[in-house]
Amino acid sequence: MRQDPRLQMIENNMHQGVLATYGFLGSDTRSLADVLQADQIAVHDLGTDHRALATKMRSFTAAGLKALGVPVTVNRLYQVTVEEFKGSIPCPFGDNYQARKVLTQVSSPTKTLYWSDLNLHMIEEHGFYEGIGARYRIDPRAIAELLEEEADRR
Ligand SMILES: [Zn+2]
Repeated sequence: MRQDPRLQMIENNMHQGVLATYGFLGSDTRSLADVLQADQIAVHDLGTDHRALATKMRSFTAAGLKALGVPVTVNRLYQVTVEEFKGSIPCPFGDNYQARKVLTQVSSPTKTLYWSDLNLHMIEEHGFYEGIGARYRIDPRAIAELLEEEADRR
């Protein structure tokens, strides 16, 4: 897909070393427009939307923040650990958003996912989950599966 020049500029900024020491697109060879579209379709197929996923993810981060660095149990199923590091990182979409360097780890009986506060912002505002092979890529299907584990127990 041809993408507009503004998206191309954002894509250029996402490559390794421009805004962060790691890249946002990893080894993904697709354009940013294609990455966004594929995840948009995946989220739609899951019957949810970016904001709903981000809101649920944020509730884990909020629970973990209360006990910074110490694992907490959420809903008797998930182990959540949140760590905060010094500094902030700018959103690559050029909206002047500065994310705190907060990292959330959520483990269920079957899987462990990690996300940063920048992931939360980019999912919520830009529908961006990072490219395949990126350090903080988080597959929306994996998030949905993690959330379903709780529903399955009800
Ligand atoms: Zn942003």
